[in-house]
Amino acid sequence: WAEAEEFLVDVSRLGEGAGGEVWKVEDTRTGTKLARKIIQARTTPPKQLVRELKYLKDTGHSNIVRFYGAYISPSSSEVKVLMEYCEGGSLEAIGEKIKQGKGRVSEPVAAKIGEGIFNGLNYLHSKRIIHRDIKPSNVLVSKHGTVKLCDFGVSGELVDSFANTWTGTSMYMAPERIKGGQYTIRSDVWSSGLTLMTLAQNRFPYPEDLTGIIELINYITKEDIPKLMDEDADQDGYAEVQWSQNMKDFIDVCLTRDESQRPKPSEMLQHPWLVESSQRKVNMAQWIREVWGWEKRGRPTGSSHGSSQSSDRQ
Ligand code: ATP
Ligand code: MG
Repeated sequence: WAEAEEFLVDVSRLGEGAGGEVWKVEDTRTGTKLARKIIQARTTPPKQLVRELKYLKDTGHSNIVRFYGAYISPSSSEVKVLMEYCEGGSLEAIGEKIKQGKGRVSEPVAAKIGEGIFNGLNYLHSKRIIHRDIKPSNVLVSKHGTVKLCDFGVSGELVDSFANTWTGTSMYMAPERIKGGQYTIRSDVWSSGLTLMTLAQNRFPYPEDLTGIIELINYITKEDIPKLMDEDADQDGYAEVQWSQNMKDFIDVCLTRDESQRPKPSEMLQHPWLVESSQRKVNMAQWIREVWGWEKRGRPTGSSHGSSQSSDRQ
């Protein structure tokens, strides 16, 4: 891919995280759109980082973002990763869009998203990979509405560089991880439950005034764990909502504080909420079109949906 770089042109900037920028790029030889992420080599030598990232080549599953390659850029000497571009954007972007429109994700859609996340995690687990950074911005959606996990930890660099700093602490981390303890696939279950809950409620479930790691540790170890609640219609224009008992229980189980009691992803797939969902057809392609105001074929509708995901898709 290093040789291919000259054929890649930038289309639009998808965003920026702690590590660097992510761009939507086009391979001018084929017209294919890809996502290109710059990875900062902080402690690992770039060559070793590329070697570690190449393990990703072995991953292939419908709920995992396809990895195309990692290389050291001949022009900038940065480590770059090429991956599948997900037109539906992240759950973070989708959540914001839904909130803007005073909407809410429906329970059947939330359950399909849950199925996608847990099938993806279960697959990663079968490859002995712990994701380690499940959060709304790392759960992407394809143009067909399929959920795809990205940014999982295969490289020591990606996983541990920030582990002991506040910058590297995600609010979605499980208690055992926040406290600096052993991290397991069960920690991914916590983060996934919190991600689903955030999407369902249109807001992050913890109090807004948790500003530092000490407050976060205190909250997560001492206070009651938040629960998914029904909501009344309110003056802000939101409709009332009632979640099923199965969904509430599912979130409760994901947010089991003691990791030794928290189920693994494979066990969560047996939970009635996901089992029922797997027996139900939900038109996820239609859902993601509605979120972004895309028409069935061709150009997106209107100009009010000026997000990068909708305005410049293939
Ligand atoms: P952090 O660095 O704290 O983990 P982040 O996940 O937002 O935050 P990045 O992983 O750098 O940071 O991603 C930047 C943005 O690009 C995010 O909004 C993310 O959802 C989006 N993005 C990343 N990869 C893709 C992709 N393959 N397709 C579409 N959008 C993507
Ligand atoms: Mg990310």
